[in-house]
Amino acid sequence: MIGTPGRRLVLLGSTGSIGTQALDVLTRYPEVAQLHGLAVGGSRPELVAEQVAAHRPAHLVVSDPDRAEAVESAVGAASRDAGIAGPRIAAGADAVAELAGSLGGGDVVLNAITGSVGLLPTLAALASGARLALANKESLVVGGHLVIDAAAPGQMLPVDSEHTAIAQALAGVRHDQIDHLVVTASGGPFRGRTRDELAAVTPDQALAHPTWSMGRVITTNSATLVNKALEVIEACFQFDLPEDRVQVVVHPQSIVHSMVTLVDGSTLAQASPPDMRHAIGWALAHPEKLPGLAAALDFSRTQEWTFEPVDEETFPAIGLARAAHREGGGAMAVLNAANEEAVDAFFEGRVSFLGITDLIRDVLADPSRPRAEKAAGVDGLLAVEAWARTAARARLTGPAGDARE
Ligand code: NAD
Ligand code: MG
Repeated sequence: MIGTPGRRLVLLGSTGSIGTQALDVLTRYPEVAQLHGLAVGGSRPELVAEQVAAHRPAHLVVSDPDRAEAVESAVGAASRDAGIAGPRIAAGADAVAELAGSLGGGDVVLNAITGSVGLLPTLAALASGARLALANKESLVVGGHLVIDAAAPGQMLPVDSEHTAIAQALAGVRHDQIDHLVVTASGGPFRGRTRDELAAVTPDQALAHPTWSMGRVITTNSATLVNKALEVIEACFQFDLPEDRVQVVVHPQSIVHSMVTLVDGSTLAQASPPDMRHAIGWALAHPEKLPGLAAALDFSRTQEWTFEPVDEETFPAIGLARAAHREGGGAMAVLNAANEEAVDAFFEGRVSFLGITDLIRDVLADPSRPRAEKAAGVDGLLAVEAWARTAARARLTGPAGDARE
């Protein structure tokens, strides 16, 4: 029997890349959970309406109040057409966190929101006792200690192909048997380029990812390798290791999703064709396996898996993340906030591609940067984050290509 009878699911970010794939998994394996509630930003009212008609959640939250009316009218029309009562609808960030915290033990919350706005819903889900399937890696980057302290053992499962791979490789391995983790990176669309060759890169070029189809922010982050930088931090918190025991290796085929090297010199890997439904289904159904969830590798055909070091000179993001993790406190929240601001500016033509990581480095190096101690809690972190956004924006007022003072 797959799933727990009566298990409910709250899906945060249902209209995104992870969210739509999660609903696809749920359609194919309805026994996994019953959809209780959806939360969305609100930019795609027609898609929300389709999701409501197909999955009939009891609750719907639109985080952006300005978009709530459009979503409500699309959902109302679709509910009438489908002959259903329709969900109870609420709006605003507080309502998202409330929905995230509304379930309990035996239920699941999948947090597939993009950005540090996912932190409060993550904490609310953990406080409720429900399982947290965490795609929103920014929660862990920004509030790592808070999130880890709030999570009971086994309560939080990663939905990120690398971390899902490591979690699977670690089944049956004790923590003291781990030598180091090996996180794989596709290298993104600009693998092999030099800094000079990246100076004039456009958003469209950055969005052409070679192996994965994902949302706009994570795709841009994959091109700058900021995504891998965030994933190093995510791995440190998920698996309780310092950053110097998390190695990154470029593996352009995205087949080996990550590895664990043990103290006896053995390396364990998880491999499958790139398909996020694998990671999503793994986290939702754990410890069960969903038969036929995603295509398996076909070893009757010749294939080549290659591994190469990261060019850290062209892509400095991982080094910045390592330093931020070593420092601790609010440094990781600053790194993430500066990146979120820079990515928005990149799409608006206000900063160049290389300017994204330049900006992160400059904001981190700002002598007036406030430090948040662990004791400062979530409010202290959010204050540091707000400072970082202001500092980033102040540097982003110049012409595109110049994020430096
Ligand atoms: P996306 O941009 O495609 O989707 C984001 C979703 O969140 C949308 O439904 C949007 O409406 C919703 N949303 C935005 N702000 C919200 C808020 N305040 N409250 C509720 N909902 C809100 O993003 P994505 O690519 O699906 O990625 C989601 C998260 O998963 C990110 O943290 C990303 O790093 C992580 N992730 C994604 C992939 C992938 O393959 N896409 C892989 C690994 C990890
Ligand atoms: Mg990943």
